[in-house]
Amino acid sequence: MADYFIGVDLGGTNVVTAILDQTGRLIDKISQPTQAEQGPQSLVERTSRSAESLIEKHSVSRSQLKAMGIGSPGPLSFAEGRIIASPNLPGFEQFPLRAEYSRRLQIPAVLDNDANVACWGEFWLGAGEDVTDMVLFTLGTGIGGGIVCQGELVHGSEDNAAELGHMIIVPDGRRCNCGQHGCLEAYASANQTANRAREALEQGRSSSLQAVWKNNGQVSSKDVFYHAQGGDALALEIVDGTAKALAQASINMRHITEPQKVVLTGGMIKAGDFLLHKVQRFFDEMIWTLKKESLEICLATLGGDAGCIGAAGLAFHVFQKQELPPVGT
Ligand SMILES: [Zn+2]
Repeated sequence: MADYFIGVDLGGTNVVTAILDQTGRLIDKISQPTQAEQGPQSLVERTSRSAESLIEKHSVSRSQLKAMGIGSPGPLSFAEGRIIASPNLPGFEQFPLRAEYSRRLQIPAVLDNDANVACWGEFWLGAGEDVTDMVLFTLGTGIGGGIVCQGELVHGSEDNAAELGHMIIVPDGRRCNCGQHGCLEAYASANQTANRAREALEQGRSSSLQAVWKNNGQVSSKDVFYHAQGGDALALEIVDGTAKALAQASINMRHITEPQKVVLTGGMIKAGDFLLHKVQRFFDEMIWTLKKESLEICLATLGGDAGCIGAAGLAFHVFQKQELPPVGT
């Protein structure tokens, strides 16, 4: 008889509730608006009802339902199952999300941050399913990260490990929103890729992007990639800067945890192989020569489902290890 797991992927705009079996088959899912302004109790209530409707619809018995996993924006405490602070979810600070879900649905639960559960999803069933060690970079407004080392997510001493966007790649470099200087995120996120292009345009650099900037009053990372693919020299320079920063970060990670794969995900991977090949090329050019390194840089394969799949998958993994917290905690 199959075991079933609930996965909740909590985002600032939408929350996805899914039911999977232990083979990773995504049986069904429900997406609904997060409506964070209604507060965390309301969210738990609404999404728990979604979970119950999935359980009922697919005739899953209570004994077959083993655990649930929740992925949420952080920082949060994996050990305590509590959100610490959450700029995207005002009012959720210090909220014991894991215990509230567990009490409401009467099953054990695990809570981890959204980048970690996406990383676990890709590791379990996506781009990383054939490796033991991988690193995930999520390339969006900022840069998030996840590290799987010897088949386990790396949490660190206070559960905030794998903040890969804030590894410093340029001493005294560009200021990052986090307060540090020279972070990976300050160069290679979608926002900062667009910002670096805008700054060059402001300096009067000649580029086909000048017309876009003039017409729209802004340039997006999508514009930058589009014009780079069209052969514009400035756009190419900006994209190369992004790719080089990601290659540097991948080299650092190769030397730290020795992943077999680096997986890229998030909005910016719409640029596809154009970005991927550049990152791989810079990696191969810049990596040390002391020994031959084989690391594959690839794109995520689960798309928007990585979060709910990873959350359910993490619940399954902790269930297998018999380390689930008691119901209601
Ligand atoms: Zn930073």
